[in-house]
Amino acid sequence: MSEQHSGRHFETTAIHAGQEPDAVTGAVVPPIHQVSTFKQDGVGGLRGGYEYSRSANPTRTALEENLAALEGGRRALAFASGLAAEDCLLRTVLRPGDHLVIPDDAYGGTFRLVAKVVERWGVSWSVANTGDPASVREALRPETKLVWVETPSNPLLGITDIAVIADLARSAGARLVVDNTFASPYLQQPLALGADVVVHSTTKYLGGHSDVVGGALVTSDVALAEELAFHQNAMGAIAGPFDSWLVLRGIKTLAVRMDRHSLNAARVVEALTAHPKVVQVYYPGLESHPGHETAAKQMRDFGGMVSFRVAGGERAAVEVCDRARLFTLGESLGGVESLIEHPYRMTHASAAGSALEVPADLVRLSVGIEAADDLLADLSQALG
Ligand SMILES: *Cc1c(COP(=O)(O)O)cnc(C)c1O
Repeated sequence: MSEQHSGRHFETTAIHAGQEPDAVTGAVVPPIHQVSTFKQDGVGGLRGGYEYSRSANPTRTALEENLAALEGGRRALAFASGLAAEDCLLRTVLRPGDHLVIPDDAYGGTFRLVAKVVERWGVSWSVANTGDPASVREALRPETKLVWVETPSNPLLGITDIAVIADLARSAGARLVVDNTFASPYLQQPLALGADVVVHSTTKYLGGHSDVVGGALVTSDVALAEELAFHQNAMGAIAGPFDSWLVLRGIKTLAVRMDRHSLNAARVVEALTAHPKVVQVYYPGLESHPGHETAAKQMRDFGGMVSFRVAGGERAAVEVCDRARLFTLGESLGGVESLIEHPYRMTHASAAGSALEVPADLVRLSVGIEAADDLLADLSQALG
């Protein structure tokens, strides 16, 4: 897995890890093994360890080996969605009576899973500003088993110093989880910075084409990986063969896409910052961003997500979303096409009234890889 790819560059690993040409046919791309069960050569005589596709499927294995290599981990597991991956992690690591710390601007679905589902099973949680180590320290309890970090965060692009929080979590006897969805492993590798587990919604940059929903967990802790794999099979929310293949296909171009997303986002940020109707721009590449130095230290570049506040409040923000043409109004992010959305009414509606509520005048952009000039023209007309 990752070891045999060490020494190669990320771009090369993305294209080759877990993807040797097919042993029988020489097919250069791993086939879609659209199959539920595998013939056994005598009872228990499995070929390559495959018996039933919930337990393991060769196309999913190719994706899992690839993801492990990209994150510099020992093992990865692929799921039906990012939230299925999160659910598997939470139910593997936590028991009734345990406590976890979640960030005050977590992805809305993560918050909902913790507050509305996991809590009912006797797990308690606190909210912290993970960008501030003192806030995390204050939230830790003797029964804290997990610290959850999302950096850059969704939708406010907050930055957390992964190495600092990893030390804090370790000294409290808790594990650190990093949701690396916004950065992708090309821009940031949390395991190398001390995280115990990386979570992905592969729906986003890894898939990259808005045509698949998927999730993943990656870790270097082999014992934990075994437990996670047991739960993955026991609970069953696996990534199917075709979905695994789509994510693998997307990953081949991850590096070039992320470079272009970052370049285009920098152009968009420059234009927004100068626009009279824009009150504030959230982007870690801005020197005025409070997490800029940390982001520059732990990320290769600043990525394609940009949020901004519009003068005129909620109505003005909604109008900008409605007027955009090239930026498609929609949830999700990380695809080649640019998207625009209103977090308060859309992706983060479930956080309303909680500590995770987002400003009503906020607009979030997923800056795609179209020509930057076309994107700027659309934003300019949408802002009026
Ligand atoms: C989308 C997203 C998730 C959830 O992933 P799904 O694939 O939609 O289940 C988790 N974290 C972040 C940061 C996301 O953007």
